Amino acid sequence: MKVISFISPCYNEEKVIDEYWSRVSKVADLYPQYCFEFVVVNDGSQDKSPMILDEIARRDKRLKVVHLAANVGHQIALFAGIEAARGDINITIDIDLQDPPELLEQFLLKINEGYQVVHGQRTSRDGETVFKLMTAKAYYRILSITSSTSLVRDCADFRAFTKEVREVIIRYQEKHKYLRGIFAIIGFEQTVIQYERQSRYAGETKYSL
Ligand code: UDP
Ligand code: MG
Repeated sequence: MKVISFISPCYNEEKVIDEYWSRVSKVADLYPQYCFEFVVVNDGSQDKSPMILDEIARRDKRLKVVHLAANVGHQIALFAGIEAARGDINITIDIDLQDPPELLEQFLLKINEGYQVVHGQRTSRDGETVFKLMTAKAYYRILSITSSTSLVRDCADFRAFTKEVREVIIRYQEKHKYLRGIFAIIGFEQTVIQYERQSRYAGETKYSL
């Protein structure tokens, strides 16, 4: 049976973990033909996230919790999750439910068509401030001016990729990891699906100015 891994970084998300678990479990129930694994990387949380995650993992062996000793940031946490994942198909997805896990259906359609990387591309960003929208726009603009590598626009780290891609990704040992940049240069057949980014289920963004 093929394995699908969901990989989610988690930093002080005690208010969203139960809802995340309920949503991803419902999605998993729709696909009895696959085995599911959920890798949640606790990125040095100081709230009750580690306890909540361990409690779910005791009840359900599909959840694998990776506890990092300190807060190292979203990208490195995500990378640790990719290293720990064993899926034939791997999906990186934030735990706050801004990226709907139900999009698995569309990711699978593209993977089954033969694509090896499928990026989720936001068509809207519900609940984000004008400041965030403007800085995000400026960010892509500056990057396109200063770099010859072109990134897929408006794709954060919600994407599906095969195990062959994972093997290439984990060989990148840069200290300052930037997954979007890595995905832009690894080759492979890549495509995009579009989706509306939701508001956070609860809690606040972990990114300061
Ligand atoms: N996150 C993390 N470590 C950090 C900051 C964030 O693991 O130091 C996680 C966070 O729990 C969430 C994801 O990374 O699952 C994205 O963070 P956030 O929602 O705060 O970012 P935004 O969506 O506002 O850009
Ligand atoms: Mg978020």
